[in-house]
Amino acid sequence: MITERTRVCIVGGGPAGVMLGLLLARGGIDVIVLEKHADFFRDFRGDTVHPSTLNVIDQLGLRAEFDAIPHAPLHTLDAVIDGVRVHAIDFGSLPAPNRFVTLMPQWDLLDMLAGAARRHPTFRLLMGADVTGTITEGGRIVGVEAQTSDGALRVEADLTIGADGRGSTVRNSLGLVAVEYGVPIDVAWFRIPRPVDPLPDTLIWGSPTAMLVTIPRPGYLQCGMLIPKGSFDSIRAVGIEGFRARIAAAAPRLAGVARELASFEDVKLLSVQIDRLRRWWRPGALCIGDAAHAMSPIFGVGINYAVQDAVAAANLLIPVLNHPAAPPAAIDRALGALQRRRALPTALMQRIQRIAHGVIGSGGGLHLLHNPPTRRERMVMRVAIPTARPILARIVGYGFRPERIRSGARP
Ligand SMILES: Cc1cc2nc3c(=O)[nH]c(=O)nc-3n(C[C@H](O)[C@H](O)[C@H](O)COP(=O)(O)OP(=O)(O)OC[C@H]3O[C@@H](n4cnc5c(N)ncnc54)[C@H](O)[C@@H]3O)c2cc1C
Repeated sequence: MITERTRVCIVGGGPAGVMLGLLLARGGIDVIVLEKHADFFRDFRGDTVHPSTLNVIDQLGLRAEFDAIPHAPLHTLDAVIDGVRVHAIDFGSLPAPNRFVTLMPQWDLLDMLAGAARRHPTFRLLMGADVTGTITEGGRIVGVEAQTSDGALRVEADLTIGADGRGSTVRNSLGLVAVEYGVPIDVAWFRIPRPVDPLPDTLIWGSPTAMLVTIPRPGYLQCGMLIPKGSFDSIRAVGIEGFRARIAAAAPRLAGVARELASFEDVKLLSVQIDRLRRWWRPGALCIGDAAHAMSPIFGVGINYAVQDAVAAANLLIPVLNHPAAPPAAIDRALGALQRRRALPTALMQRIQRIAHGVIGSGGGLHLLHNPPTRRERMVMRVAIPTARPILARIVGYGFRPERIRSGARP
């Protein structure tokens, strides 16, 4: 077995893990990130980069690099409900310069952050390292064991971070318990070509029988069909023709391109869940991001919450870890402080997501408006939506308690 030694071992190279690795290395801390996959190229993790994350990228001085990667800024988030276009959220009311959400494939974002981290000599990223459990000595977590293509690996660390997503091995190994909130939907994930006729960017399409999310990516639309939880097999049994009809029912303007969806081989099932750990840490170990709180895709805030956890963790940990003789109790105090700081913003956002799930129901369809809207609906759209728009822009754009990087880069 190969043994490595580091100050901080981060399990998981998703947005939480890579961002925390970058921030710690930038602060002069020795850090190893272990990622079980050989690359970042996975399709199912969401693409939204919100103003809160853009602000962090600006603070890191990475804006020029970020802007050089193809991405699609959205200044408003539009929904088309029963054929009626609703400008539900307008980020124009946020402070400059980041008055938009942008859609960038997550692998590009992670590649950029990992590239920036590698420029710091204290950063190491080991791809293809599948962590199997934590190591405990004297009641304290002192590292992890992993499997790699070169055999077994042991990483010893003063602090272990579980940033390994909602099926977290670290969370399970620590015996941390989550409160689970039932979610009535799953998502069927697929891509279709963009229609030849230019189409205004639209995030959500809803009709009384179907709901579809469309994410514009270069050359195609990444789509998520909301379906009742556990119904994928029965939808598949109806056949691809029925599924194409479902796409057309949600978004009639996509009926033509939906024919390009050849078979269910091209449709993946993504299970949606919301949960939150009661306790995010044990002596010597902490969970952040989805490992601490699985987020629903509603409002696409999961990546941004993972990044906010990473920024808050770095702010609290760097001053402690920079003292070589910091006692374990000082590290653990920072872990408790991280949970106290991030638990409430997370609980509030998950509460809003659960309210939204209540509106969506089981994903079978949405009947909020008539087409044309009734007088009462027009009144609501004229008064309520403009009032809610800037509030929603803030909540979706920043989440609750947005974080700023407080530590400078170590030369
Ligand atoms: C259908 C769907 C759509 C979504 N869309 C969006 C969206 O558009 N925008 C958005 O912001 N959020 C979205 N989310 C939520 C978002 O994907 C998560 O909240 C976010 O990815 C959490 O980041 P993370 O770094 O905590 O975890 P993850 O992104 O899950 O990263 C965890 C990493 O750990 C690695 N890992 C796991 N186990 C091990 C192990 N044992 N050893 C080593 N490595 C391991 C994984 O390979 C992965 O790279 C969506 C979620 C779903 C279900």
